[in-house]
Order: sequence, then structure tokens, then C-alpha cells
Amino acid sequence: MFEKLLIANRGEIALRIQRACREMGISTVAVHSTADADAMHVRLADESVCIGPPPAQESYLNAHAVLSAAAISNADAIHPGYGFLAENADFATMVEEHGFTFVGPSPEHIRRMGDKVAAKQTVQEAGIPVVPGSDGAVAGPDGALEVAAEIGYPVMIKASLGGGGRGMRMVASADEMRDAYNAASHEAQSAFGSGALYVEKYLANPRHVEVQILADQHGAVVHLGERDCSLQRRHQKLVEEAPSPALNPEQREEIGRIATEAARRIGYRSVGTFEFLFQDGQFYFIEMNTRLQVEHAVTEMICGLDLVREMVRVADGTPLDFGQEDIRFFGHAIECRITAEDPETLQPAPGTVNMYHAPGGLGVRVDSALYSGYRVPPYYDSMVAKLIVHGANRNECLMRLRRALDEFVIDGLTTTIPLHQRLVGASDFINGDYDIHWMEGFAAGAAAEAAS
Ligand code: ADP
Repeated sequence: MFEKLLIANRGEIALRIQRACREMGISTVAVHSTADADAMHVRLADESVCIGPPPAQESYLNAHAVLSAAAISNADAIHPGYGFLAENADFATMVEEHGFTFVGPSPEHIRRMGDKVAAKQTVQEAGIPVVPGSDGAVAGPDGALEVAAEIGYPVMIKASLGGGGRGMRMVASADEMRDAYNAASHEAQSAFGSGALYVEKYLANPRHVEVQILADQHGAVVHLGERDCSLQRRHQKLVEEAPSPALNPEQREEIGRIATEAARRIGYRSVGTFEFLFQDGQFYFIEMNTRLQVEHAVTEMICGLDLVREMVRVADGTPLDFGQEDIRFFGHAIECRITAEDPETLQPAPGTVNMYHAPGGLGVRVDSALYSGYRVPPYYDSMVAKLIVHGANRNECLMRLRRALDEFVIDGLTTTIPLHQRLVGASDFINGDYDIHWMEGFAAGAAAEAAS
């Protein structure tokens, strides 16, 4: 097993990985920008290396700086966390070429599945249903118009290399196509370095259901159940739960089997997620994430496995020591992503935490790098805490979530806790009756209520 692991990330996920390593007897190296010198992930690591100035491009996204830090600290392996360099195939290649182990999938899998068009083709060849749409990227707005006329409006145009909900537009009719295409392509070009777009049928009321996969280097693949991530704003997840309240046992079985088979067919290793839209009893693949996800914690809570530990073990070549039949699911888990943002406008609101008090008690987990006196820097993602709650069933989980949110104090910072508090009181949410569009309407209603 590795002796020393460098974590190429910051915030809660850096702490999450450190904790798993400590329990495995692996010492950790934190990297940080000058803006993060006082950050918790630096304080708690065995060693730390400053890798550059505040902008992520010059620090957390600077592959050479990260590799130098690994070299001078004598690390054996590098865990990328999520975001930053996690889905950068060139970085994964460089890590291996420099003699370190990349704690994640092979660079080829990152590359192939990171291109959403190639990913769709790959899983389609493995017999998995995808959202109907163009065969690959379209040739400009005219190509998009042609495909849309065939599949029928409304359609969704999406960036081939997209992520984080960017470079995506719903197009209701042919008159809107040119403007929408140009705007999405422009956004995709600046965010992902390619303006290539593809077209998909727009699904009117689906749920987002995704399956967690874990695979070792010896061909063993298991799934760890599904997560429902339909509560989204701007196509970004806000709340996730496991299991999905929308699936019956047969559908659950079916999607787990489909995702496991897909991972096996492509020869995948490490953790990974197959994302689907689910509507009228049908699953449609949308994309695969070749990394640990923010919402991995809800899966851990219902199956009792430490996903980071498993990820580190399989990266080291250790075979999985359990099979699908050994995995048991118990109870229900919900995660709230708490961001330092105005709950109505979602504008980032960095600031200083005067007083921090995290909720606790049975079934309550808080993954956060906050502490009293911490100044949230304005340079990075605005997520400051994940509140993950587990209960014997969904109802117990909801009651626990409500009381945990009421206990949570992040004084001095404007956060989305009030929005989550409203959400746990909403009857549609309590009934599990929501689709991917529901949250936008609810948040708009909550904003109007707050203003009146
Ligand atoms: P990204 O890679 O940017 O996260 P995804 O392809 O995963 O993009 O889609 C993000 C979200 O956008 C989905 O969870 C869903 O809510 C919405 N979405 C994506 N494709 C469609 C579609 N064809 N119809 C309706 N909504 C969609």
C-alpha cells in the first residue's frame, strides 16, 4: 500500500481524502494556494506545499506545480478529488509518466468518457439506451436545425466537452435555434476550449438518477445503488438522495445491472458514475463521470462502505474483497449542498465565519472545511459544507434533516441554509414528488415570498 499520498485539491474533499488515508495508515501531503495558507486541509495534513497564487489556473490547476510538490514530498500517489484536475486525462498521463500512481481511472477512460458525444456512442454500442439525438456533434446551427426537425422540438443543445451545466440550452422552436446555438457554443468555447455542440431530445419531466460503480483492476465490478439528483438549479445539483424515491425494486435492479454491465464492457476501473434521465419508466444515459462525486457520501451512508478507501485500494492494485451479493443497503440518506451564496439570487457571497457550529447526533454527518474565524476566499467554488443525514427510512431521514438544518450555525456568512430549510417543509419534496425542473419553480416562489 502507498506510504504517502498527495491530495491535489482543497476544501471539504481534501479533508475527506485525508481522513480516509489516516485511517489506512497513509500519510498525506496537502497542496495549497497562497489564499489557502490557513485552510483546514493544510492544517490537518501531515505535510503541505504551497503551489502558487490564488487563481486556480496558477495553483490547483497547475499540473506542473502539483507534480513538483509530489516529487519534493516523495509521495507515491496523487488523488485529484473532484473538479480541478480530476477529469483531465493529460494530467493523469503525466502523473503516471512521472512514476506516481493516479488514484482514479485510466487516462484513456477519462478521455473517452469526458467527451460526452464519444461516451454516448460507447455506451450505446454496449446496448444502453441514450437520449435520442444527433449522431455526434452537429455541423453548426444548420446541422442542429436539421437534427431538431427530425427528432421534434423542444430540443436540448449541449457542449460535447460540457460539465457543470454550462454550454447547454433548451430550444423550443426553430426560430430560437441560431441565437441559442451561438450563445451555447460561445460559452462552451470559453469554458471547455471547444465550441462543438450536440443535440438531444428535451425531456419534459425526467428525474436525474445515477448509479455508483466501483471496479478493480482485475475485472471485478459492483454497483453501489443509485442516487436521485433531480433537485437542481441551473442544471447543477443542490440536494441528492439515495435510494431514489422514484424507482420500484425492479427498476432499481435493472439500472444497477445496466450500469455494471456498461462498466464491465468498457473495462473501467476505479469509482465512476453513470448518469441517466428517467422518465415514464425508461432510463436514458446522459453522461459518465470518471471520478469521485460530491454526492458520493449518500451512497456511503446507505451501504456502509468508504468509497475513498476503496478507490485508494483499487488504485494500488488490491482486488475488491466483496462481490455484489455482499453489498447490503440500509435506510435512506439525503445530502444538502450548502454554498456561500445568496439563497435567492445565488450570487456568491464570500466572507468571514464569525461562529461555526455544526449539527451532530445519530445519523448526521457534516463534510466541511469551515471553522470559526475562517475567511472564505472569493476564488473558488462556493460550496462550504455538505450536510448528509441518514435515517432508517425516508421519513426519519427528513425529520432528522430538518432538525440538523435548524442546529447548523454559520454566523457571518450568507449561505443557502434558509433555502434548504424551506425545502424540507415543501410537500412535494416530502412526498418525493419532483422532477429536474421542480426546484427552479420552488426557488423562484421562495424568492418571491422572501421579498414580500
Ligand atoms: P453536465 O455535464 O453539464 O452536468 P449533463 O448532461 O449531466 O450536463 O446534464 C445536466 C442536467 O441537465 C441533467 O441532470 C438534467 O437536469 C439536465 N438535462 C440534460 N440533458 C437533458 C435533456 N435532454 N432534457 C432535459 N434535461 C436535460
